[in-house]
Amino acid sequence: MNEFIYSEKSDFASAEELAVMQEQLLKRHLLYCRDNSPFYRDILNDMDISGNSFDILEQLPLTDKSQLNASPERFVAVADREIRDIVFSSGTIGAPLPVPYTARDLKRLAYNEYRSFLACGMTADDRVLLTCTLDRCFIAGLAYFEGVRAIGAAAIRNGLNSLESHAEVIRRLKPTVIVGVPSFLKRLAGFMAPSMQGADGIRMLICIGEPVRDRELKLNSLGQTLAEQWQAKVYSTYASSETITSFCDCSIGNGGHLLPDLGVAEILDENGKTVPEGEPGELVMTPLQMEAMPLLRFRTGDITFMTRKTCACGRSSFRIGPILGRRQQMMKINGTTLYPQSVFTALENIPEVADYYILAHRNEHGLFTDAEVHVAFASEYRETCVALVRKRLAAHIRIKLPVLAEDISSLRTKVFSKENRKPQRFFTVSGRYDDGI
Ligand SMILES: [Zn+2]
Repeated sequence: MNEFIYSEKSDFASAEELAVMQEQLLKRHLLYCRDNSPFYRDILNDMDISGNSFDILEQLPLTDKSQLNASPERFVAVADREIRDIVFSSGTIGAPLPVPYTARDLKRLAYNEYRSFLACGMTADDRVLLTCTLDRCFIAGLAYFEGVRAIGAAAIRNGLNSLESHAEVIRRLKPTVIVGVPSFLKRLAGFMAPSMQGADGIRMLICIGEPVRDRELKLNSLGQTLAEQWQAKVYSTYASSETITSFCDCSIGNGGHLLPDLGVAEILDENGKTVPEGEPGELVMTPLQMEAMPLLRFRTGDITFMTRKTCACGRSSFRIGPILGRRQQMMKINGTTLYPQSVFTALENIPEVADYYILAHRNEHGLFTDAEVHVAFASEYRETCVALVRKRLAAHIRIKLPVLAEDISSLRTKVFSKENRKPQRFFTVSGRYDDGI
């Protein structure tokens, strides 16, 4: 296999040229899966895979996380001694899933993040503050660190540290870029205000884990708040531990670009059919050039939409919008489909709301058919605020949900757990759901 060496061609080739390149890489990937992955060998051995690899891919069944959880060893396509790093994939229901990487997979990881950071405008002159963990069996922090190194910029690995610590690091080391979870960066700016000492040189925030764009790909209210607080450009990047293939904003900030030599992406409806451009569906990924745990048509569980229009940056690669929700968090309330993210977006637009979470209830079939919204207010006039939120929510999501006022400190203890930087805002009566990276 080729080494991962960047050429502008892999970014700026025409859609037709990209399709030819992807078809060849996908063919190689299918053969690799058939020859090395016990799980996929059983599926591919019975198929003729000599034709167009996109057509073959379409005929393949989807791979669900529950299949990986049931027998992770059947997805491992290399000998034990080839494995160099093992992480746990967080998120969804069930035990965390072990995901192994070979030395080449780690090179791919660095290359993937290098390409993403390059696209949104990071340079070797940057100093990049990483506010995510590099250990605890997570992959994201390591990916960002490797990406920063590959660009030639300087990394500041302050990780999952306190607001005080990050403020001090910013004052002393004067980063130019911060990588972090948007709601944490909002709190950090609030903590550092009004002086924002040391933050003048910060020109770019690269946001992970929460959407900062809306359905029109413009900054949502959280993204706008960040841009104002930090006086910086706000970008978004998305990936998962299993696929380690990023979708990152380019410098235009117009949705996340797929890196065409590293993955094939599909957006599918509940019946596994491709949805039209702009329509929401589940992101299904076939990461290319993977060794240790190659996957075919992996269901990420994330709901988004795509566009194939050539971006103003000149790239014609597949782009996705913000993550609108998780498949597992889909609610059907009075027959209407609703994702928690729509409620969050509406709440972010109400200045009186200081913080919030959703508590969802399942029916006897396991579907979420009922939910209540718990809100802490910045104002003392709780009753007026509850009425306001109820009205605004009904207008925004077209569903009436019960709104309950809560004390801000107890609400934040629930939302911001110590072990996770990313806030948890979706709870069920029996537990909570994580969102992955
Ligand atoms: Zn672009």
